[in-house]
Amino acid sequence: MKGLMKTNMKIKMNVSIAILLALTIVAGCGSKNEGASTITPSPTPTASATTSPTVSPSVGTTPTPSATTSPAATATVKPSSNPVTSPAASPTPTKNGAIQVIAKPESITVLVNKMNSLPSSYEPTDLVYPNIAFTFSEKIDKRKMRQVAATAIEKLFAGAAKDGAPLAGVSAYRSYATQKSLFEAYVKKDGEEKAKTYSAVPGTSEHETGLAIDVTGSNGKCAAADCFGGTKEAIWLEKHAGEYGFIIRYPQGKAAITGYQYEPWHLRYVGADIAKEIQSKNLTMEEYYHTVPVSK
Ligand SMILES: [Zn+2]
Repeated sequence: MKGLMKTNMKIKMNVSIAILLALTIVAGCGSKNEGASTITPSPTPTASATTSPTVSPSVGTTPTPSATTSPAATATVKPSSNPVTSPAASPTPTKNGAIQVIAKPESITVLVNKMNSLPSSYEPTDLVYPNIAFTFSEKIDKRKMRQVAATAIEKLFAGAAKDGAPLAGVSAYRSYATQKSLFEAYVKKDGEEKAKTYSAVPGTSEHETGLAIDVTGSNGKCAAADCFGGTKEAIWLEKHAGEYGFIIRYPQGKAAITGYQYEPWHLRYVGADIAKEIQSKNLTMEEYYHTVPVSK
């Protein structure tokens, strides 16, 4: 009887935690302006609430990354003794989710999330302006991507257009300083706790890598908004992004692992080999690297 009560309590707690998580998990784009519609409560929290307590990235189907693609290999020169930088080697995170600083932020396969932060001093050295359409005309930072990602996104946009799903860029690179001032403005307005629910802490936004871009249909509607999901462009991306080296970084139903609700518009360049594997096996980067779920 006591045991049963305990179990019930546990289940109840898990569900409450899951609901709490679902409510605090928001736009990975880390900017209220650019991801505004994702902040409003949507039916998705229920979905993630049911999956979050049980889903574990280390379960079953996840493959063992090969030595050449493992972040342990790419992120450090001393793979055996570096739990700080290697997601694969990360120990169980502290209960309050202490953030680790990434040692090799320039790695194309770098894992950036709420628990793995870019150093505040990191600035990619090879940012360029990809030759693609954007939803705005100014030649500003948020058009930029790192060279390899820029070349790949040009090819991806050409492929999408050829298949009748023309795209436009919404927002790509964002500097640490920009993310910091955005976040600080939100903290001033709403307090740190609330700000964290809709804006990424500086260092933890993938946009700071220069390898991520938010896209939308060429009509510019549903830019970084939930209504982009299910459009022909979003469906094309689900099918083809991997061929060009990109992944949908925050897939549907994986919020308990990535820490973010479904963002069909947020693409992350990882290179074609990894991207194709992640896409075909329906994984997240966290699962690919066998790292712990990002629950906060
Ligand atoms: Zn984004």
